[in-house]
Amino acid sequence: MSSPPKVACQNCVHFRSRPYEAKFEGCYLEKNMPSKQKLLCLDEQQLPGNHVKINLRGDCPDHSARAKKPSLWRRLLAIGA
Ligand code: SF4
Repeated sequence: MSSPPKVACQNCVHFRSRPYEAKFEGCYLEKNMPSKQKLLCLDEQQLPGNHVKINLRGDCPDHSARAKKPSLWRRLLAIGA
């Protein structure tokens, strides 16, 4: 019997890391957050869920993989360089 593949929070769309994406590192899925704000201007007051605790066994059911970054050539062509 094979075990399901492990998932990493760093590859999930709900994960935000410091210092560029968020003030606090963690899971920003609404149901996992102890404190959330609807207004964008109050974004810094939000508290993310503890991603290490939630995804302790690497089997988080809410994991949603991030889209792959396009290659450098595709990005250069997109800006018309
Ligand atoms: S805990 Fe689950 S939903 Fe949250 S960032 Fe990690 S994999 Fe994604």
